[in-house]
Amino acid sequence: MLILHDPRCADYGSSMRPEQPARVIRSAAHLRSAHPDWTWREPDAALVTDEVLLLAHTPAHLRRLGLGRDFDADTPYFEGIGDHARRAVAAALGAARHAMAQRDAARGPEPVFSLMRPPGHHAMAEKAMGFCYLNQIALAAIYARARLGAARVAVWDFDAHHGNGTEAILHPATAAGPFAGSYFFASIHQHPCYPGTGTRDLGPLTRNWPVPPRAPRADHLAALRASLDAIIAFAPDLVLVSAGFDAYARDPITQMTLEAEDFAQLGRWLAAARHPATGRPIPAAALLEGGYHADLPLLIDAFLSAWNIPG
Ligand SMILES: [Zn+2]
Repeated sequence: MLILHDPRCADYGSSMRPEQPARVIRSAAHLRSAHPDWTWREPDAALVTDEVLLLAHTPAHLRRLGLGRDFDADTPYFEGIGDHARRAVAAALGAARHAMAQRDAARGPEPVFSLMRPPGHHAMAEKAMGFCYLNQIALAAIYARARLGAARVAVWDFDAHHGNGTEAILHPATAAGPFAGSYFFASIHQHPCYPGTGTRDLGPLTRNWPVPPRAPRADHLAALRASLDAIIAFAPDLVLVSAGFDAYARDPITQMTLEAEDFAQLGRWLAAARHPATGRPIPAAALLEGGYHADLPLLIDAFLSAWNIPG
C-alpha cells in the first residue's frame, strides 16, 4: 500500500467545521502505527501546472481561488486554499500515475490512496462548493487519459453525497466529442441529500444510484455492488475511487447505515475486480473525499486493509 500524504493539508480550517484538520491528522497517525510496512510519499507539486488545472477548470475559477472571498457557506476562503487544493490535485495525479505504472506488476497493482484535504468531488469547472475547491478526481481522470495512456477511465464515487462536480466535468466529455466514450462515472449516494443532484442516469456512461436515507445496509451494498459491476463491464484501464466515508451509520451529516465491515467489503471487491477482456487486475487509485465521524481512521483502515490483500 502506498499512501500519498502531505501534512500541510492539515494547516487550514477549523475544528468547528465538519471538514476539519483532525480528519487527516488522526487518520495519518492511526495508519502509520497500525501499518508500519506501508509506504508514505509526499505528492509531487510539479505535476500541477495551470495547464493541467485547465483540463477541468476555467481560467476565471483559478483566479477566483486567490481572491480572498468566501465561495459559499460550506466553502470559505482560507489563507492559501489555492495551494492546499493544488497539493490535493498533485496527490490525485500521483496516485493515478502510480496505479498506471503498476498495471503490469507481476503480483498485481499495488493499491494507492491519497490521504489529503480538501476533498474535490463537488467542485465544478467554474466554482468551488461543498468543502471542495478543485476537482482532483476529474482532473486525475482527464490527466490519465491525456498523459498516462489510459484510454478508458472509470470513477467510482461511494461518498454519501452525489459527485456532482465530477459528473458535470466528465459527462459532457464522455457523451460526445473527441473523448466520447473515454470516461465512466458511477455515484452511489444518499438522496435526498446535499447537493440534490444524481437522481437519474445521464446516459449509459454517467450512472447514478440514489439510496434513500436510512436504507438497510444490504440495499445500499447491493447498489454499490451493481455500480462496481457496471464499472467492470465498461472495461476500464484505470479505476479512480472517490472514497468518502460519510455513508457510515454514525456520520454526523448524513443518514446512512454502513459499518466499517462494509467499507472493508468495498476494498475486497476492488482487489478482486478483473478486466473483462484480459482477466487481469484493474489498476486503481483511491482519493479521500468525505467522512466526518471520529471513527474515520478506522473506516479508512478497514477499506485499505481489505483492498491491500490481492483478490
Ligand atoms: Zn460526502
